[in-house]
Amino acid sequence: MTENKRENELGMYRHITRRDFLNGFGVTVGASLALPHSAWAEVFGMPGGRSTVDGVAQNSPGYYPPAKTGMRGSHDGSWEVAHAMRDGKTWPAATPDTEHYDLIVVGGGISGLAAAYFYRQHAGAKARVLILDNHDDFGGHAKRNEFQHGDRLLLGYGGTQSIAGPKLYSAEAKGLFRDLSIEPERFTKYYDTKFFSSRGMSRGAFFAKETFGADALVTGLGQPTWAEFLAKTPLSKGAQADIVRLYTAKVDYLPQMSLEQKKIYLAKTSYKDFLLRDAKVQPDVIPFFQESTYGLYGVGIDAVPAGDLAKLGYHPGFAGMDLSGPYGPGMGLEITRQDSEPYIYHFPDGNASIARLLVRALIPGSAPGNTMEDIVLAKMDYAKLDQPGAAVQVRLNSTVVHARNVAQGGGAAAPKEVEITYVRDGQARSVRAAQCILACWNVVIPYMCPEMSQQQRDGLAYGVKVPLVYTNVVLRNRQPFEKLQINSAECLGSFFGGVTLDFPVSMGGYAYPEKVDEPCVIHMQYVPCAPGLPARDQQRAGRAQLYTTTFGTFERNIRDQLNRMLAAGGFDAARDIQAITVNRWPHGYAYEYNSLYDPVWPPGKSPCEIGRAAFGNIHIANSDAGAFAYTNEAIDQAWRAVQEIVSQR
Ligand SMILES: Cc1cc2nc3c(=O)[nH]c(=O)nc-3n(C[C@H](O)[C@H](O)[C@H](O)COP(=O)(O)OP(=O)(O)OC[C@H]3O[C@@H](n4cnc5c(N)ncnc54)[C@H](O)[C@@H]3O)c2cc1C
Repeated sequence: MTENKRENELGMYRHITRRDFLNGFGVTVGASLALPHSAWAEVFGMPGGRSTVDGVAQNSPGYYPPAKTGMRGSHDGSWEVAHAMRDGKTWPAATPDTEHYDLIVVGGGISGLAAAYFYRQHAGAKARVLILDNHDDFGGHAKRNEFQHGDRLLLGYGGTQSIAGPKLYSAEAKGLFRDLSIEPERFTKYYDTKFFSSRGMSRGAFFAKETFGADALVTGLGQPTWAEFLAKTPLSKGAQADIVRLYTAKVDYLPQMSLEQKKIYLAKTSYKDFLLRDAKVQPDVIPFFQESTYGLYGVGIDAVPAGDLAKLGYHPGFAGMDLSGPYGPGMGLEITRQDSEPYIYHFPDGNASIARLLVRALIPGSAPGNTMEDIVLAKMDYAKLDQPGAAVQVRLNSTVVHARNVAQGGGAAAPKEVEITYVRDGQARSVRAAQCILACWNVVIPYMCPEMSQQQRDGLAYGVKVPLVYTNVVLRNRQPFEKLQINSAECLGSFFGGVTLDFPVSMGGYAYPEKVDEPCVIHMQYVPCAPGLPARDQQRAGRAQLYTTTFGTFERNIRDQLNRMLAAGGFDAARDIQAITVNRWPHGYAYEYNSLYDPVWPPGKSPCEIGRAAFGNIHIANSDAGAFAYTNEAIDQAWRAVQEIVSQR
């Protein structure tokens, strides 16, 4: 088949939702208007394409980033200034802003917004706070994706997905939730846990021919027994037998070791090595498990400690090795990953609702309503976010390139304040505040604060954020999934590691598509990494790859993979795909220490603790500051940074 014919079959270059291209006006999607490639590139920010953010000012009507489709997440236009800073560019002649603030927060993610909130609780409602973020929307990873399909609004999460384990949140985080009217137990009502099972749907697995020799979608993962499930897969008989043994036999694969030795050994042994060396599976078992840790770790089982997986309990092979009891230093993962609670704490736009609730609380009139339910459909008024003279201002599309402590009006004894330089629309501006909280990514701070000690900058630079991509695709309907009886599939050896129907959550007037022929959102996850390398090197390699992967490559893979998986259910990518939003996060999850590669640091000496020390009037928040990639950490670090300010007074 010629390349052109193939592209036509996949439906490449068809007209799908692209509100941004049409200046923010909702369009009915589905018409098959062929776009010339250059126009397509323009829409989706491929190299050479113009970012559709430019030209529409934050305070102009029509500025509404959640409705933008195409390449989102760290969209083009958000990262170039920071990369120029990394590469040595400086902005010496910044124009001073006229306004002065009590606090400037760098980073408008959940941590930065929570820091502004906590600070105003302490300093009072008159305190003036400026929040700067390099993206065109606030929320950081907590990103809302909207799709307008005729008169129907569909929501998706472009990053931070769910409130994981809310019972384990700190008192401060729980207090913030109370203030924002978030009552997690209400999700038991909003999340329909029986939605898929009542329709006979369950998890499946898709085996890609590139790795397994043949494409095969096998439904009912592990059902009714592992042996029966595996018999339908392209795995060899030997691999099947080994996997059945792992799941069903209670074998102690480390009989010669004491309990303590086992825990230490497993902390220092990858799951891949454990399977091959200790459980003695044959090598073609590995591709079955390789990507099973992508979603949580951003790397495969070659770079995840077996001990972590034993503790988490999803991976087989440990049932015959009583690993109960406490874990001490050198035994890997110390913090529970919060999965003892059901995974139902999900707003339709993920934790973007938390960010939106924070902005609504910080800026009166920015969105209507006052409950956790009505935030779901509340239309945020972006024109209200950065009003001159307002107590809180959220300034988007603004990349901070320098933060330094300065003396007010000169003289060594003068009280200190902070001067921030940021770049917006290509222009450098400077602005001052009494205090500053850097709730941005640790990795940028060493460049932003060259005056910091080398030791602190090294601490900040140690963790390498995990790159990953959350893609939302709007489909004409759910029929192929119902026909095939799957609501999600692990995709082994494929470009996207997982495909799943959106979570069945209805709340605040937003109704999950109930009927099988209604349009729906599916979620596809892509994790770029380089198996075989240490985790941080995998993350660096994955990030470099992400910045050069075009929207066209994502689109082609979406169409190809869905056709191959779902064709037997009547799916046709050219007909059924209505809209695509690719949320690319080259700097995704905070780096969490990995016992395979990282030493055990004494209390107070880990890189994130050294890195987050107060530097004059500059304080550091963000989930990186706690080396834990969760919303509660983002909130807790915001609280800690504000307490530093309080105790300095
Ligand atoms: C795809 C994905 C899924 C996730 N899912 C979950 C989940 O289900 N549950 C969960 O608890 N956690 C999840 N997380 C983790 C998530 O990182 C945290 O929960 C939380 O949202 C982090 O908030 P933050 O404010 O610390 O960081 P961020 O959200 O990253 O916000 C920091 C902001 O600072 C900005 N910034 C950086 N440098 C500059 C600069 N120089 N100038 C101006 N601004 C700058 C960044 O661009 C960003 O907008 C997920 C993360 C990702 C990437």
